[in-house]
This record gives sequence, structure tokens and C-alpha cells, in this order.
Amino acid sequence: MARLHHKVAIITGAASGIGRGTALLFAEQGAKLVLVDRDAAGLESIHSELVAQAAAVVISCGDVSLAETISNVVSLAIETYGQIDIVFNNAGIMPTGDLQSYPETSWDSVMDVNVKAMFLMCKLVIPHMIRQGRGSIINTSSVMATLTEPGYEAYSASKAAVIGLTKGIAVSYAEQGVRCNCICPGWVDTPMNQKVAEDAGGLEKLYPIIKAQQPLGRMATTREVGYAVLFLASDESSAVTGSALYVDGAASAAI
Ligand code: NAD
Repeated sequence: MARLHHKVAIITGAASGIGRGTALLFAEQGAKLVLVDRDAAGLESIHSELVAQAAAVVISCGDVSLAETISNVVSLAIETYGQIDIVFNNAGIMPTGDLQSYPETSWDSVMDVNVKAMFLMCKLVIPHMIRQGRGSIINTSSVMATLTEPGYEAYSASKAAVIGLTKGIAVSYAEQGVRCNCICPGWVDTPMNQKVAEDAGGLEKLYPIIKAQQPLGRMATTREVGYAVLFLASDESSAVTGSALYVDGAASAAI
């Protein structure tokens, strides 16, 4: 039996990386999908792939930090499927740089995309979930909420805020059947880290760093992260809310 049979899931940042991998996994598990991203070409690509697999999927292109985008997405989900069972708030950005020269505009973008977009989405989907008497929200945080390095102040602050937002929503709506959890991935093999690899001088330069920081000894795949999201999205995790699930190959356990 598919683990998300008859469930409707919104996934943001679905055109690439973790969002894309999770969308493919959710479709395999019977979910009906609403995929969101600002990358129109990437969104078309995952859409075509899923349609070829006979998945139920609609897409919405836009910037998730804008209230208008979120409103369009939620309307699309309700008009298409009549319900919203799962939201995976996953779109994120990671502009880095020394704090002293870090542009205020970059700080605002990180907070808008990584945190405000989740607030906007939760605000609009929670009333539907309360009406249905159930719903599962999963937010993407990061190990960098608590472990960090120079130049990641804005990113780490945004990911710590995601944990706070997650716990707040969990305690506010637990009695009404709405669960809210977050995942904290470590190194994951996605285009976001291809940029980090370029900055480090190539992937081969990055591997010893990954090995040192993440006892698993390698990056996680997007599918491995997707399975953690799948657990939190499914009814199997019905007593789990307010948690931060580390998918980090023991990175947060290591000294
Ligand atoms: P990615 O760059 O491969 O994918 C991110 C997706 O989000 C892209 O398709 C991008 O177009 C989309 N996006 C970015 N800003 C957007 C906006 N304003 N509106 C709509 N879409 C937008 O990156 P990823 O590694 O898959 O990252 C997904 C999430 O996982 C992010 O929140 C990231 O911070 C988090 N994360 C990643 C890692 C990692 O190692 N890759 C580790 C921990 C946490």
C-alpha cells in the first residue's frame, strides 16, 4: 500500500535538489502533488518526468517569499484537489560572505525566502488543515541552525528561526490535528553544494571536508533525505510533532 495514498502535498523548491528528490518519492508513494519553484524550466522538467509516470501533478511558478505566490499555490491546490494534507516548505537560498560587508539586501532575501515564505504558507494552509482535522507540515532547516562556520551568519540565523517557527506551530495546533516538524540535513548532494564546491576549488577539494565534518563519510542523497520527509508526512508519524529530525550522517553528533 502506498504510504501517501490519497494525500495532497505542496512542495516548494521542487525544481531541484531535495525538493525534486522528495517530489519523485512522494509520487511513487501515491501523493497528488502541487510543485512550486521560481525556476520555470526546472519546474517544467520535473512536471514532464512525473506526468510520464502517470503521477497527479500541477505546478506553480513564483517566488515563495511573496504572499501572492503562496496565495496562488494554495488556491491551485484547493481548486485542483479540494484538500491539502502535506506541506513541505523546502525552498531555500544560501548567500554567504563576511558579515562586515554582507549586504543588507542579502540578509533580507535569506530571511524572506528561508523563513518568511514558511510563515506565509503556514498562515494560509493551516485553516484548511484544521477544517480537515489533520495535516502535516515539514520545514527544511539545517545542521547549520546550530553548527556553523564563518560567513554563514545569515543562513544559520534563518535556519535556527525555522526550528523556532516549527516548534511554535506544533504547540499551537497539535490539538487540532495539525503537525509541524522540521528536518535538519547535513551535507546533501544537490546543486546548492555544487556552488560550494566551485568556491572551494572543485568537488575533490570538498570531499575531505565532508569526510571530516560528517562521520557518514559522504553526502546524503536527495532520496535519503526524502525518506525522512516521507516519514514525517505520512500517518506513521502521527505522534511526532515539534521535532527537528537530523538527517546529517552524525555531523551534529561529532566533535
Ligand atoms: P537547490 O538549490 O538544489 O534547490 C533549491 C530550490 O529552491 C531551487 O529549485 C530554487 O530555484 C528554489 N528556490 C530558491 N529560492 C526560491 C524562491 N524565492 N522561490 C521559489 N523557489 C525558490 O538546494 P537544496 O540543497 O535542494 O536545498 C533545499 C533546502 O535544503 C534549502 O532550504 C536548503 O537550505 C536546505 N539544506 C540543504 C543542504 C544541502 O547540503 N544541500 C543542507 C541543509 C539544508
